[in-house]
Amino acid sequence: MQKVYLDYAAATPVLPEVIDVMLPFVGDHFHNPSALYSSAIEVHEAIEKARSDIAHWLGGRKEEVVFTSGATEANNLVIKGVLDAFPGSKVLISTIEHESVLNPAREYNCETVAVTSDGRIDLKDLERKIDNNTVLVSILYANNEIGTIQDLRAISALLQKKLQARQKSGNKLPLVLHTDAAQAPSYLDLHVHALGVDLMTLNSGKIYGPKGVGCLYVKRGLVLKPLLQGGGQERGFRSSTENVSGIIGFAAALQVVQESREAEVARLEKLRDDLIARFQNIGGEVNGSTRHRLANNVHVTFPGQDNERLLFALDQKGIMVAAGSACSASKDEPSHVLKAIGLNDQQAQASLRITLGRFTTQEELDSLVRTLHELLKLPTIKS
Ligand code: PLP
Repeated sequence: MQKVYLDYAAATPVLPEVIDVMLPFVGDHFHNPSALYSSAIEVHEAIEKARSDIAHWLGGRKEEVVFTSGATEANNLVIKGVLDAFPGSKVLISTIEHESVLNPAREYNCETVAVTSDGRIDLKDLERKIDNNTVLVSILYANNEIGTIQDLRAISALLQKKLQARQKSGNKLPLVLHTDAAQAPSYLDLHVHALGVDLMTLNSGKIYGPKGVGCLYVKRGLVLKPLLQGGGQERGFRSSTENVSGIIGFAAALQVVQESREAEVARLEKLRDDLIARFQNIGGEVNGSTRHRLANNVHVTFPGQDNERLLFALDQKGIMVAAGSACSASKDEPSHVLKAIGLNDQQAQASLRITLGRFTTQEELDSLVRTLHELLKLPTIKS
């Protein structure tokens, strides 16, 4: 059976050219980059080259890139690192953040900012909720479930306005903007200054690089309490011996996706829009924004259906899609993201996420639509 993979938001295959550059660092170049002999110094230099390459795509300095074990750790480092550095201060997050922002934020003085029915930040609500005690605002660049892209420039401008007013009144507390950009690099520009962000999370495993590695961009001068203490690697922000082959692969993958970004966006947007139109023809209701949507994301509700039944039936035909985000797929509760955009439990449980990627073809999508067409004629089985 020909397999059709349509869950690129959950994981991406590692590209052969990425594996090629990683292999020497799995084998011969195994040395600890902190050691002082020449072989170790070569490994250290390879990490620093990867750091510079990543900084280039962010338009930042190499010292501003902190390698982590992935997006979860980077997000925890932001929330805990900023709030522990300013005890008692407040964090604002959107209602559609990933759990790796939501859950640590809940341990602090945290308020949520509403989104509109297409998943965009309600700027008025954000403005109302920034008070004299707010130190951090964390907003996803692009949502992992419904693919909605946020206007970070507008959010940043709002924060600047609030900060200036606050400073005039003698308040010295910083007000920093973090974005979890784990889903963004294949499709969006990452230049931190243009976006106006102070902290940015990236994840190699979503961009055709190895899993278990990512980074946090930390604007120079920003105060952040480290999660891990030890040997002082990553300028003290993240102790532990570096995941050398992972870091090398991550940098190579980021280069591939950023260099091919425009062509991929154009190709995938066509496939996406065609798929959306065909789903609507068979009774599907599309969730999220039409205009501000990741090129690879289709999120659809088939009213009256059960998404788990559809998912398993599709899997039996070799087609892999998601019923929620991979990280929350094991939970029984309906997605908090779908609730936040106004879906009720039944609608949420009738929804599928289809995410396209570099290897997606028109034929694969034809096969998905054909199979769904057949499945939707079956009586709905509810447990
Ligand atoms: N943030 C977003 C937007 C994600 O999509 C994911 C993974 O699905 C994560 C964070 C967590 O990434 P990881 O499991 O690699 O730490």
